Amino acid sequence: MLETREGGCHCGRVRFRAEVDLDLLSHCNCSICTKKGIVHLGCAVSQFQLLRGKTALTSYTFGTGVAQHTFCSHCGMHAFYIPRANPHRLSVNARCLDGIDGASLNPKGFFDGKHWEEAQQRRIAETGQAPPPGAHGAKTLQAILDRAPE
Ligand SMILES: [Zn+2]
Repeated sequence: MLETREGGCHCGRVRFRAEVDLDLLSHCNCSICTKKGIVHLGCAVSQFQLLRGKTALTSYTFGTGVAQHTFCSHCGMHAFYIPRANPHRLSVNARCLDGIDGASLNPKGFFDGKHWEEAQQRRIAETGQAPPPGAHGAKTLQAILDRAPE
């Protein structure tokens, strides 16, 4: 069930509000998700608002450069990011939602990011949802930043 939640980084410079469905938690075994320990919650850009932190956010990219691994340049927390598998959407880190008991999170979804190409093909086949042509995380991130207050 979609609900409105707020969250942010650890120091509070980055804050967001998002419509998320906590029944759709997922995790991923790719190189960066493993190190981050992120619990993913997919979210449409139209259902996400960056409340503050435009200047605090930094983006780390690697490999294809499609994903934008945004994080707070002060405290280092990855509160949300733009995933390569869905570069026209974003993924909120459920661990960064206000009032969340991190230890009780039990993601049912799984993306085999360690074998990314196969996992993406399987995901598209199962959901029928492929990213639109030309989608790129950098464009999505810019759209989020453009709508955010200074
Ligand atoms: Zn911070």
